[in-house]
Amino acid sequence: MNILKVLVVNCGSSSVKYTLFEMENEKKIAWGIVECIGLPEACYRRQTIDTAGRRDYVKVTNHIEALELIIKNLLDKKVGSITNKNEIAVVGHRVAHGGIKFSKSVLVTEKVKEDLKEYFTLAPLHNPANYAGIVAIEKMLPEIPSVLVFDTAFHQTMPDYAYMYAIPYEYYERDHIRKYGFHGPSHSYVSQRAAAILDKPLSELKLITVHLGNGSSVAAIEKGKVVDTSMGFTPLQGVVMGTRCGDIDPAIITYILNTYPHQYKNSDALNSFMNKKSGLFGVSGLSADIRTIVEAIKAGNRRAKLAFEMLCYSVKKYISAYYGVLNGVDGLVFTAGIGENSPLVREKICVNLQTLGIEMDLERNNTLSNGEGLVSVPTSKVKIMVIPTNEELMIARESKACLYGRQ
Ligand code: ADP
Repeated sequence: MNILKVLVVNCGSSSVKYTLFEMENEKKIAWGIVECIGLPEACYRRQTIDTAGRRDYVKVTNHIEALELIIKNLLDKKVGSITNKNEIAVVGHRVAHGGIKFSKSVLVTEKVKEDLKEYFTLAPLHNPANYAGIVAIEKMLPEIPSVLVFDTAFHQTMPDYAYMYAIPYEYYERDHIRKYGFHGPSHSYVSQRAAAILDKPLSELKLITVHLGNGSSVAAIEKGKVVDTSMGFTPLQGVVMGTRCGDIDPAIITYILNTYPHQYKNSDALNSFMNKKSGLFGVSGLSADIRTIVEAIKAGNRRAKLAFEMLCYSVKKYISAYYGVLNGVDGLVFTAGIGENSPLVREKICVNLQTLGIEMDLERNNTLSNGEGLVSVPTSKVKIMVIPTNEELMIARESKACLYGRQ
């Protein structure tokens, strides 16, 4: 019996993640990651529904070799999950930036690949890697269609007054500088789950979804459509993140350029300042990981406390703003590494929002472990939910829908 299988591929700048799904029950049957591509410590971690996790050091110099290794492993006679490449109905690729051209998932064609190349400069770390993965899969699995699922697409419903920046208009027209938003598959997945938990159609709901991981973003969603989101032209804008600064006065950058011209000679140095050296890490001087920050707070570290408070405060501000944007909210969702696992962060964000009808059940918030659930008091007007994200499944669903001509 041939059950429809979808392979989801996520090519990062130095890694390839994959998940093979059986779509009948939306079951994960094989998954893993090739990391540190091109480095001596490159390794391949993998697991299947039938075999325990395994990790091997491998010699892999590029994305093509990584994908070859993955496909070979999926076809392995002993530990593989498929016997023939053609069992894969479609490959779904996560793509970071779809610019203004891609407002939904698309089947890959030559034209689509050409269009995608135009957006290399919008996401220089991710889009070229995504493209390399698409080309590699085409070579390896020439008979199997590929679908691109964009991080930005779900946010394309924002009205112009929300996505425009108040800079000279020609930069929008010529360079397409505007807000795009990211983490689309995650916001989309948890909004659908929230509707299921609340037992209401998405079309009747106003939701705020808070994705808190290494990168973090907040989205305001009305009737299943994004009306605003915190990330912008790039994933740098918005709330305080692990190593990214989030919203800052842009004049800080010109000030730094002028004050330290030798240290900041080019955009790479400035990008590193904003993307790698800031956020929780930059303020605490310790770590980008919230677990380390919380431990340090317990030990009395003042800067760790400040970093923690800044992160929570920045999220609280977005929630409050989006409450106004949506003119009321039915559900507030926390997801991703921090959102799912840090009751302390959730509590700090939600405290003193009762005037907006956001009332957390502190006990439930603390005891919910590793799963999905409501963490608001029964009388809370806004239902607060913790929902583990599943971006891969969302990409698999999109790929299947796209393959069968939803669009
Ligand atoms: P990414 O944005 O890279 O996908 P994740 O969503 O995996 O990141 O989130 C990573 C962050 O989640 C870590 O930096 C850490 O701060 C936090 N995190 C992960 N597991 C836990 C945990 N058990 N408790 C608290 N925080 C956690």
